[in-house]
Amino acid sequence: MSKLWERAHELKDEFIAYRRDFHQHPELGMEEVRTSGIVADFLTSLGLEVTRVVGTGVVGLLRGSKPGKTMALRADMDALSIPQQNDVPYASIYPGKMHACGHDGHTAILMGVAKLLAEMKDEIAGNVKFFFQPAEEGPGGALPMVEAGVMENPKVDAVMGLHLGTNLSTGKIGLMAGVSSAGTDSISITLHGKGGHGAHPHSSIDPIVAAGHLIVALQTIASREIDPLGSVVVTIGTINGGYRSNVIAHEVTLTGTVRTLDPEVRATMPERIERIIKGICETFRCSYDFDYDHGYPSVVNDPAMADLAEAAAKRLLGEENVVRFSVPSMGGEDFSYFAEKAPGIFLRLGAANPEKDCIYPGHHPHYNFDEDAIPIGMAVLAEATLDFLKQ
Ligand code: MN
Repeated sequence: MSKLWERAHELKDEFIAYRRDFHQHPELGMEEVRTSGIVADFLTSLGLEVTRVVGTGVVGLLRGSKPGKTMALRADMDALSIPQQNDVPYASIYPGKMHACGHDGHTAILMGVAKLLAEMKDEIAGNVKFFFQPAEEGPGGALPMVEAGVMENPKVDAVMGLHLGTNLSTGKIGLMAGVSSAGTDSISITLHGKGGHGAHPHSSIDPIVAAGHLIVALQTIASREIDPLGSVVVTIGTINGGYRSNVIAHEVTLTGTVRTLDPEVRATMPERIERIIKGICETFRCSYDFDYDHGYPSVVNDPAMADLAEAAAKRLLGEENVVRFSVPSMGGEDFSYFAEKAPGIFLRLGAANPEKDCIYPGHHPHYNFDEDAIPIGMAVLAEATLDFLKQ
């Protein structure tokens, strides 16, 4: 067994304790004051150079004993506005807020990596930067951190991150080269009609009927306009309008998410959606407002970084426990902004364990992950970092 693997397991309880503390005190995006304070104090205690950025972001810099390349490792710290429903001793004490996506684990794991590597400082040639970012779930903390210059001084040569997954068993790592997550855009559409009495539709313009047609017609972008081998999702997530059963509404607002994998397809989406809105409105005599907001770009993993991380993970976990995914996820991740600036790899860390009830997907009110994944994530990130710096 490698030294890092053993040490990570010796340190396991310390970082499970941090994880449980974060789990109990979940903070929403850009409000991670308590969490980032604990992280900054911890990194300072390890002797790292610590900088606060974009409010609640933290950057720790570990300088090795000799000059060399710079690896950046990233964790996200934010929780979700979901009321926790599972019963664990370390359940959220803040009503309506929950770490339902494992970011408490990502934060604890990266603190653990900082400790592992700080202990080996004398053997390290090069630097390791630790990025603790706010607001991955929105509005996004990665882009402001990149804009604040975290990829420079020293210049980052490669970047790695991971996400806990309850779709992969504890003890496994999944990864892929190339596009691995979707571009995530959001849309807001308001259809304006003319309100009136439900018994006299001819004196009104009904935006609810138009909205019904619009929802169905928008699905033809994926089914009739885009190459079936391409990938597009248009989901209308909310629809709001109307007052009561016998009243024709004067307006209806719909919001949704647009997911794509190909930047060229993504660029065509505003026009495709607006053309359909316009046509439906002309047909049903409505007018409209339409907003298309570009969110996170796809994570594009660097093939050489994927090979490097795969080799490190196989050494620690065994060949059979490292899975190459063949298809990307339509989920989004703002790790993409870091990976646009330096070759990057984003790993999926298996943390499913039915015996511990760790079976629910991220964003579920019963979400929990297997804490045995914490030392595994620590060891894999540290091992791959050392491999990269030795290259
Ligand atoms: Mn997440």
